[in-house]
Amino acid sequence: MIHLPIEIWSKIFKNLSATDLINFCEAFKELEYLLTDKSIVKKFDVQGNYRFVEVDFVKFIKEKVQYDHIRSLNINNLYWVPLKDLRSLLSLLTKLEELFALETNLSLREKDVKLYGNLRVLAVCASVNDCNIDINLVKVHMFLLKRFCLKVTSRRGNITNLYRIFKELFALRELWIEDLTERPSELINYDMIVYKLQFLNKLVIKSKISIPFLDYKPVGMAKIFESRRFKSIVIIYVKCPQDKIVHLKNISIFDPFETQLEIAWDVLRRFYCEMPYDVKAAEKIYMTRNVKDAQFEELNFCHNKCFCNINFITATWDFLKAPNSRNLKKLCIKSCVLQRKPPPTKDHVVENLERIYPFQDIVENCSKLEELEIMSCSSCNVTIADCYMLINQLVNLERLTVEVPIFVNGNFLIKVIQNCKKLKYLKVLSCGTNEMLNRNLSLALKDAKYLEDFSIESEQINLESLLEGLNEINSCKLRRIYVNCKHEDTRFQTELETLLKKNPQLILVALAIQIEQTTKKMLIRKILKEFCDNKAKYYYLYPTSESMSHVSLQHVHKDILQFNTNVSIVDLADFR
Ligand SMILES: [Zn+2]
Ligand SMILES: [Zn+2]
Ligand SMILES: [Zn+2]
Repeated sequence: MIHLPIEIWSKIFKNLSATDLINFCEAFKELEYLLTDKSIVKKFDVQGNYRFVEVDFVKFIKEKVQYDHIRSLNINNLYWVPLKDLRSLLSLLTKLEELFALETNLSLREKDVKLYGNLRVLAVCASVNDCNIDINLVKVHMFLLKRFCLKVTSRRGNITNLYRIFKELFALRELWIEDLTERPSELINYDMIVYKLQFLNKLVIKSKISIPFLDYKPVGMAKIFESRRFKSIVIIYVKCPQDKIVHLKNISIFDPFETQLEIAWDVLRRFYCEMPYDVKAAEKIYMTRNVKDAQFEELNFCHNKCFCNINFITATWDFLKAPNSRNLKKLCIKSCVLQRKPPPTKDHVVENLERIYPFQDIVENCSKLEELEIMSCSSCNVTIADCYMLINQLVNLERLTVEVPIFVNGNFLIKVIQNCKKLKYLKVLSCGTNEMLNRNLSLALKDAKYLEDFSIESEQINLESLLEGLNEINSCKLRRIYVNCKHEDTRFQTELETLLKKNPQLILVALAIQIEQTTKKMLIRKILKEFCDNKAKYYYLYPTSESMSHVSLQHVHKDILQFNTNVSIVDLADFR
């Protein structure tokens, strides 16, 4: 198999990322010459590749890769690579046209912008202060830019520095912009940007707290997607013929309705909440006014307000049982969806419920599901408890976030880890003190050979037994661990030391724990510090009462530290 001609290898690796190729070459050193093949390295994608925590990234490229062939480079999330290294690399990439460098040390400072001269596509993070540059540099070095993705990280400085940059981006067709501020007084004025961009045909806005009402009909842009869930607010506009622009809430499909899905769609519409589907489906439905041919890749039925009523739940079931959801990849639901089916003739009261779970059909219909989030509904009662046992039938699951009610004992997690062999990400949120959950979770973890990210939030955790569970894993795949609990009274120091010794690949160990004893606190900090031997690593202990914001953590890791949904929203890393 190794002795294939290079054309065959080229074909194989053309569709894989550079990360796959690099991992492959690590196993078969004699194939490293593939990294010099033009067609293979043309699109070089090493987004978030933790291999470069130990290996010097820029040195690797300079020595092993035929870098002058690179036209598209994705280094998103390589936050630890020093700025001067990245700049020296960029100065060598004379053919580079696309650069994806979110969450790296690159920005819009003058020395960075000078390196962007050939770029048609750019994704980068910048503070408002970084934008305070000689505007002529933007004029000279960024005028070719067609697609731009900008994450605005900090708001110190004058915001007009940001606006004036856009005046020089004549060719810009597509803009993605994320505002990370949490202060309403400092929101970006998007009008100041949009009205400068004559040729814009797609605008993606993401914000943490709020986006004011924006109407871009005058410039021929239709709002095709809007999601205001938790701390992720996303609005998307696309160029559209004037007569087709309708307010999103007024979109209606052609009746008569022929399918169950269309009826369900109409029911959801009457709740005046966000529609559950992903951007791709939203755009198609907006443009065609047709739901029955849509294909859903993501569905999110969680809203800031909980709709625990039979109409909403039935509509959710109908969405998820439709053939349109057969290729569903990501799903976020409230635990209401786990309810039993009410018999059609009797009243909808608990005693009358048969033990039929519509979720069983959903699990079968959505068997390709890779990501599942289940939020707990406080109005739902113990009748949903057995249904958690169905989750382990979703054998393609890679990421699971589950909020566990106090009446669920967590033994379903043992089955999930045994049956879902691809599970890489597990986040468990406990709704209260749940001793059985703790015990079952510790039991489950010891089989978690494939787990990379693990997060637990609970009133009380027995950290000693939890770490014992983690220490029984021998795969060395764990990357990030986050523990948040108010009460922790065990002596877990030894287990922590074992964990860190056994898993030098751990990037993030964040313990948000209330510890009263000063000596214990100091000892744990000492252990964490001793093993935190690389600038990519974050090992922390801090009291739950303190806000985490004082800990300087990369946004890359916020997904595991904060509760937010990942379904039917937009991640700037999706900008490609
Ligand atoms: Zn409910
Ligand atoms: Zn509820
Ligand atoms: Zn306690």
